[in-house]
Amino acid sequence: MPHGEPALPDDELRELTAWQQDIREQFPIITAHPEPAYLDSAATAQKPRAVLDAVQTYLTTSNANAGRGAYPWANRTTALVERTRRRVKEFLGDPDPESGRSAVHFVSGTTEGLRTVARDWLTTHLTDGDEILVPHADHRANLLPWLEAERLLAERGVGVRVRGLPYQADSGDYDHRALAGAVGPRTRFVAVTHVHHVYGGDMNVHRIRAAVGPTVPICLDAAQSVGHLPVSVAALDVDFVVFSGHKALALPGTGAVWARNDPARGPELRPGGWQGTPNTVGIASLEAALDWLDAAGTDRIGRWGTALAARLTDGLRHLPSYEILGCQASLAAGSPLQRRHGIVTFRHRDIPSDDLGFILFSHGFMVRADSLCQAGTDETDPKHGSVRVSVHAYTTVEEVDRLQSVLTTLA
Ligand code: PMP
Repeated sequence: MPHGEPALPDDELRELTAWQQDIREQFPIITAHPEPAYLDSAATAQKPRAVLDAVQTYLTTSNANAGRGAYPWANRTTALVERTRRRVKEFLGDPDPESGRSAVHFVSGTTEGLRTVARDWLTTHLTDGDEILVPHADHRANLLPWLEAERLLAERGVGVRVRGLPYQADSGDYDHRALAGAVGPRTRFVAVTHVHHVYGGDMNVHRIRAAVGPTVPICLDAAQSVGHLPVSVAALDVDFVVFSGHKALALPGTGAVWARNDPARGPELRPGGWQGTPNTVGIASLEAALDWLDAAGTDRIGRWGTALAARLTDGLRHLPSYEILGCQASLAAGSPLQRRHGIVTFRHRDIPSDDLGFILFSHGFMVRADSLCQAGTDETDPKHGSVRVSVHAYTTVEEVDRLQSVLTTLA
């Protein structure tokens, strides 16, 4: 559905229900444990049988090191790694996967991937007086590496100015108008998030590109979007996409940095140091996960997540005991409201969030309840805590409705 078009969550849910029943059956952990309901998919996603099978098959037929042997298992493992690099490019809609210019580097997850961009790319070419724009209320993994790069550069006598991306107060979206004022002739880099891990909102990256102009490199933290909705590097016009395999149905310890490597926007990313043994079994799981996601349809998965989040948001926002964080509506029916993707975070006005997390578990729901690693929050301050409900393709309407009725009785 194009951005800005009002969605109809109930119609969406009706249309997608038959598809979803078949999808849910493919997750052994979910079918084996229908209760408590797993509503913490933004923390990590459950794995479909196809991914478990790919892991088993790899370890029982081909397990060897990659790029280091001349016998069939080693050759198959090397081929797997190279095939999966290519698969990641295709999955992300790389317009020119064969060009040899763009590259995919395997990392252990988004945290390591963003650090790789910061240490092995950003610090290599900035000069005294350059400016970078970074988010200060997104995940800490998308702030600390840029501050580390600033420190490393300062140690070499290169003074870089770090500016915070401006946010809109009520929606949690970036403030694209104010952003235009924060961009100057020395802006050399912008780090953004695709889907906010607390607010669930689509951060409207296309507007960031419009505000910063065609040549400033943009790095996208796609931890909450890859595997949850279609992600196209062509449409987003970003220079780096970083994601975690474990949130995209693959094994933990797997992730990737896609780099456009457009010389007009900076040097090529060359991850530094000796690259040791890759996480081959993780890469096998990632290949299977991307195949599974394509077959299931990232568009349908995205619409399902949006519709479920809309249903919960619309139910909660009429209960005065709850404060929903971020945008108060679920759907992007044009600016300034954002589309919410599969994540709803809230606080109860009287029940501390960690208590609410325990109460919800006692009623049969696994949710996240803390400060959610958000930059700028104090983890020891209970006021910064919140409860996050996050869904994936295996989550049912019934689970969301059951949660809604428990939350209503606690209101
Ligand atoms: N960025 C965002 C938006 C996230 O949600 C997360 C995970 N919560 C991360 C970065 C870090 O991902 P990982 O822990 O897999 O490295």
